[in-house]
Amino acid sequence: MIYDLHAHSNVSDGILDPKDVVLRARDRSVDVLALTDHDTLAGLQSAAEAAAGTGLTLIAGIEFSTQWLGRGIHVLGLNIDPTDAGLQDVVASQSRQRWQRARLIAGNLRRAGIKDPLDGARRFASADHIARPHFARYLVEAGYVSTVALAFRKYLGAGTVGDVPHGWLEMADIVQAIKLAGGVAVLAHPGKYNLTRSRICRLAEAFRDLGGQGLEVISGVQTSQVTADMGRIANQVGLYASCGSDFHMPDRSWQELGAAGALPANCRPVWQLWN
Ligand code: AMP
Ligand code: MN
Ligand code: MN
Ligand code: MN
Repeated sequence: MIYDLHAHSNVSDGILDPKDVVLRARDRSVDVLALTDHDTLAGLQSAAEAAAGTGLTLIAGIEFSTQWLGRGIHVLGLNIDPTDAGLQDVVASQSRQRWQRARLIAGNLRRAGIKDPLDGARRFASADHIARPHFARYLVEAGYVSTVALAFRKYLGAGTVGDVPHGWLEMADIVQAIKLAGGVAVLAHPGKYNLTRSRICRLAEAFRDLGGQGLEVISGVQTSQVTADMGRIANQVGLYASCGSDFHMPDRSWQELGAAGALPANCRPVWQLWN
């Protein structure tokens, strides 16, 4: 069985329609796919329609941007009920925050000499979701930089003009909202926060104490050493293990759907919680 429990579509910062993400996953032999767009549930219905009758099981998911001790931390909600009113309130609040932040980013970019950054980014964004990759695509299209990676390095990443306060909801509140919506909260890509190993363990323990249940032991492209180590942390802290490509688009800079690999045999897979 191939599980891919982390993937994005164009309702957040991916490139493909939700239905095309599903069909591509099926073509790559994925058995169980979670669509986990950033801070939005908008793709789940059309993804479910595309999955019906294909043999692929679609898990309703979301990837929330949160803060923990002021630091940006991503939390996956897996097997959630997308009709849950509390979850929808949280999603609406994150969407408002995203547009507020986008106006701050745009103001700074304008002062740095970029023309019409908000209108430019909006053309790549969806109605309820705007993210830094949308600014990055505009900066490439308008010729300010040659690649998205350079747009982050020069204009959007840490320490640049686009690095404005994010204002995400607290990790504690997001974990609660996921649980109340019947879902499983998973700490996403623990190796990608620039934390030492002991701080990753502290984060994972805090996440568990808040009611989080899973750790993303495999995320995107990583070495087998990292996978083994994340598996050890999951077991040590008492978290179930999840795995996902974090697919955004067919492009060498992102992992392909279904290709992130299998979990270490000694981990408890997160899907035991809903099977
Ligand atoms: P945001 O949610 O607006 O803060 O944007 C974060 C998103 O930008 C992540 O989910 C990634 O998809 C993307 N991203 C972050 N850093 C980079 C980078 N250096 N190059 C390309 N994409 C990035
Ligand atoms: Mn993303
Ligand atoms: Mn993420
Ligand atoms: Mn992601």
